[in-house]
Amino acid sequence: MSEGCGSTASRLLRGDRELFRRVEKRFAEFKNTEAALYFNSGYTANLGVVTAVVDRHDLVFSDEYNHASLVDGIRLSRARRVKFPHCDVDRLARLLREAPPPAQKFLVTESLFSMDGDFAPLADYAELCSETGTALIVDEAHAVGVYGARGSGFIEQAGVSDHVLLSVNTAGKALGSAGAFVAGPAWVIDYLIQTARPFIFSTAAPPPIAAALEASLTVIETEPERRERVLKHSALLRSLLGEAGINTGGSRSQIIPVLLGDNTRACRAASELQAAGFDVRAIRPPAVPEGTARLRISVNAAVDEGALRAVAQLAARACR
Ligand SMILES: *Cc1c(COP(=O)(O)O)cnc(C)c1O
Repeated sequence: MSEGCGSTASRLLRGDRELFRRVEKRFAEFKNTEAALYFNSGYTANLGVVTAVVDRHDLVFSDEYNHASLVDGIRLSRARRVKFPHCDVDRLARLLREAPPPAQKFLVTESLFSMDGDFAPLADYAELCSETGTALIVDEAHAVGVYGARGSGFIEQAGVSDHVLLSVNTAGKALGSAGAFVAGPAWVIDYLIQTARPFIFSTAAPPPIAAALEASLTVIETEPERRERVLKHSALLRSLLGEAGINTGGSRSQIIPVLLGDNTRACRAASELQAAGFDVRAIRPPAVPEGTARLRISVNAAVDEGALRAVAQLAARACR
C-alpha cells in the first residue's frame, strides 16, 4: 500500500501506521527497554515527557546546562525546578537529601552535553537516585548512535539502563533523520500515549520517515566502524587543539568547543574557518552562558585525518 507523504492526523486517529509501530519496537530492542514512542522532534519529546510524568507538586532537579526543551518542559509542568551546578554530584546529593519528603523527585539531565561535549556522571546519578527515590530522565540527543558497544548511547556505556526511567533520543543528529524516540518501561510509554500532549495533539510524522529510521538503525547495527572513527578522530582533534594551546573545556567527545569568551571573536574565528571550507559555527549567548562564546566543532564519520590537522592549525591561528 502506498503511504503517501503526509500522515493526515494524530497517531491516535488516522495518522497511525504499522511502520511507526515496527520502528518503535525495533528502537526499544536497540535501547534494551520494554517499549519506545516516536515523537515529531526531540523538542516536543522533552516537552511531552516532562509535562506528562511531572506534576506541579513535584521537584525537578535540573543541570544548569540542560537543553532549552528540558527547561521548557519543566516550566510547563509548573513543578519546582531545582537547578544544580553543571555535573556537580556533591551539590546534587545535598539538594536531593534536603528535599521535603512528600514531593516526588525527578533528576533531568543530558547524557552528553550539547555545547560543552562533556558527559554527565550517570553512574553516580544512578546510585543517588536509588538512594533517594528519585526518577532519572536522560536526554541522549548527542550520545545515541555514537556511544556504547552497540551504539545505543551513553546509558549503555555507563551501564545504568536499569536505573533510568525514560530516555529521550533524537533522531535528527547521529541517526541522520528527524524526530525522537522516548524509551522506557511499557507502563510509562502507555501512560505517555494517553497523556503526552505534543504526541496526542500533533499530526503524526510523514510515514516515509519511519522507513528512513529503520535504515538508520540498520547502519548503526551493521557499520560500527563509523562510530569508532568518530571517537578516534574526536580524540585526535582534541589532542591537536590541546597541543596548540586551545581551551576545549571539559570536552571528552565528538563535540569540541573552542572557548573564546567574546562574541565578536567567536564570530570572526568561525568566518575564517568557513572561508577555508570548514563548516564550524560560533555559539553565543543565550545558547551558552554570558561571556562563554565559542566555536563548536562537531566531528562526523566522514572527515579524514588531514582535515582534522588542517582545522586544528586554522583554529589555532583564528584564535590568536
Ligand atoms: C537537539 C537537541 C534537542 C532537540 O531535538 P530536536 O529533534 O532537534 O528537536 C533536545 N535535547 C538536546 C540535548 C539537543 O541537543
